[in-house]
Amino acid sequence: MNTDPLISRIADKRDELVALTQALIRIPTINPPGDAYEACAHLLGERLARRGFTVEYVRARGAPGDNDQHPRTNVVARLAGTGGGDCVHFNSHIDVVEPGSGWTTDPFGAEVKQGRVYGRGSCDMKGGLAASVIACEALLESFGRLPGALEISGTVDEESGGYAGVGYLAERGYFSPPRVQHVIIPEPLGVDRICLGHRGVWWAEVETLGRMAHGSMPFLGDSAISHMGAFIHRLEHDLLPRLAQRHTAEPVEPPGARVSTLNINSLHGGQREQSYRSDDAGRPAGDLPAPMVPHSCRAVLDRRYIAEENFSDVKQEVTALLDELTRTRPGFAYQLRDIMSFVPTATPKDAPVVVATARAIARVLGREAAYIASPGTYDQKHIVRTGRLQDCIAYGPGILALAHQPDEYVEIQALLDSAGVMALAALELTQAP
Ligand SMILES: [Zn+2]
Repeated sequence: MNTDPLISRIADKRDELVALTQALIRIPTINPPGDAYEACAHLLGERLARRGFTVEYVRARGAPGDNDQHPRTNVVARLAGTGGGDCVHFNSHIDVVEPGSGWTTDPFGAEVKQGRVYGRGSCDMKGGLAASVIACEALLESFGRLPGALEISGTVDEESGGYAGVGYLAERGYFSPPRVQHVIIPEPLGVDRICLGHRGVWWAEVETLGRMAHGSMPFLGDSAISHMGAFIHRLEHDLLPRLAQRHTAEPVEPPGARVSTLNINSLHGGQREQSYRSDDAGRPAGDLPAPMVPHSCRAVLDRRYIAEENFSDVKQEVTALLDELTRTRPGFAYQLRDIMSFVPTATPKDAPVVVATARAIARVLGREAAYIASPGTYDQKHIVRTGRLQDCIAYGPGILALAHQPDEYVEIQALLDSAGVMALAALELTQAP
């Protein structure tokens, strides 16, 4: 099959691809709280409906975060095939993180300069979403309907775990055979890199318990914060050095993440946080704290583990530290609550979607694909675990390090190159055997 006309058709769509990326960026789908999801889902859905796709809007009623003010509205568009081929699904999240400070352009202005489109979400991942749409439209214009179906979804809340987005859809069969066989997630991993999966994650809250007393007589109480300090000391001097010794054979990027890691995401102890200060005369002002020995201190642990470890050991080594403190430190008591966990995933290099994408990268860019894995999880976790679909990768334009940064941008050439790769991969995967 001659694919030259397909590639040149995508090159001709440069302005259209930039315009779609801009239109998506200009809808400020900030999460949290989950703004403007409806508007973004409809922009995408109405465009694809005009191309003949069957479009569904799926609101994740009852899912975390869904309410009438911030409806969790996903869009799923499907163009049936002529028969005999597999379905390829392009899944992008439509939410972005808050812009934060430090921008030199309007975060939702989608300014184009120096061959780049700037804006919050340009790289992560509205550029990838736009590239997948242009890829499918170019395929239709070049070949008409393919033997297999094409699907494009815009889903919510990836930045906050994806439970109302891909998680919700996966529970309802949207990411399972026989409906779909191959999934490409255009996250910003770079135009010549195929992301096979991610490390495992376990979030848990540790609470240390104490006994309240008056802050002027701390010897009458027992400080939960001091107990937490003892636990953190053990983490830093015992567990973290051990984790740093555990290297994975998976090609995790950046290489610093090719070990096991643990971060303390937050720490809260004692009274609720209050705002107080001294006024100009040096007198205390604002909500003043009361003198209390804290009876509770809570820390959220963010443990990322490698494919060579297993989840029960990961959890066991933290509880072993806590249990040892219970035995050896007078008054030490704790509670441990799981928040969430996902096991590591890795799609095999010889899986169909990997092989087709690697071939397309070689064709479009003239160089070999690189294989990587992600330090953090993304929506692939729901597709593999809940959808039970293993043939899934992340592949898309943009530089990962720019995600969530001020002055985030995506290069227009990367948009075009990745659209070409996605189109060629989908063309191959949708053919009848
Ligand atoms: Zn993303």
